[in-house]
Amino acid sequence: MKKLRSMVIRLGLETMASTGVYRLLQPLTGGVGFILMLHHVRPASAAAFQPNRHLEITPDFLATTLQNLRAHDIDIVSLDEARHRLATRQFARRFAVFTFDDGYRDNRDYALPIMRRFEAPMTVYVASDFAAGTGRLWWVALERCLARSEAVTVPIDGIETRIETATAAEKQAAFARLHDHFRSLPTDHDINAAIGALARRCGIDDATISRELCLSWDELKAFAADPLVTIGAHTISHCNLAHETAEQARHEIVASRERIADALECPVRHFAYPYGDKAAAGRREFDIATTLGFDTAVTTRPGMLFPGHVDHLTALPRLSLNGNFQTGRALSVLMSGAATALWNGFRRIDAQ
Ligand SMILES: [Zn+2]
Repeated sequence: MKKLRSMVIRLGLETMASTGVYRLLQPLTGGVGFILMLHHVRPASAAAFQPNRHLEITPDFLATTLQNLRAHDIDIVSLDEARHRLATRQFARRFAVFTFDDGYRDNRDYALPIMRRFEAPMTVYVASDFAAGTGRLWWVALERCLARSEAVTVPIDGIETRIETATAAEKQAAFARLHDHFRSLPTDHDINAAIGALARRCGIDDATISRELCLSWDELKAFAADPLVTIGAHTISHCNLAHETAEQARHEIVASRERIADALECPVRHFAYPYGDKAAAGRREFDIATTLGFDTAVTTRPGMLFPGHVDHLTALPRLSLNGNFQTGRALSVLMSGAATALWNGFRRIDAQ
């Protein structure tokens, strides 16, 4: 095992993909199933500057993914069924769950028709402010600001900092720098204030983006009535829960669940942590979700499902269907678990 592990790390992912070594690893790394994470599903844009492209796949690639799963005899199941299989140790067949974060309208317009074609269930995690049209999708606002600017001036650590954004390469570098900068601000209030100020200077109205991109409550009600669709919660404001006090974090989770349940008249038993990485969701947040009685809660920590996850149902890992890697080969490597095993140093469960 140790030898194999060091060999794999030495080879690296690219070699693993081109040599097919990942196939040999699957019995070791593939787990009993996996939860896929998607955001937007929509036709590709021709724009040169698409820093959020990793968050979107095309309808064609969604269909390819579903076909690929069927061809590999992997069951496509709901979160409830995945939880049931973990609880009752039904692992005769591998399974996959489709989850979509944030509640984008393209999930209804482009993803649902394809999911229907394959009779495949899907869970959509709704941030209640996005559904209300009052939420802030600051990463989209940032993209739009940089797309139309030759340069921007942003206060960083108290210093007005000018960043060139004339060329596509400069825009890309500026996005990477500012995205990290904004995510490092102490509270979500600070992020929204800073983005709001930048948007005003660029002539972007960041307040309307959630209405433009996300399903409204009325639209969600019809969408949620589809038997293939499960709606989960994703906080009120799409905040980084780890930056909040325990009381505020609890409120963000509980109140988003109540708002969705009231608006859609259905119980909400599943949750996704916004951002969902270690900087946004850890032991404290997992315990809150458990105490609040959620059946499952998902992170964005990369990983496969293993039998032991039955004891960590509010700290589940996912596999991102990344828009920068929309190929059959990327899918095969992803679904073998080899990539996430590398990432996790071959540790199967990371719920701390
Ligand atoms: Zn999200």
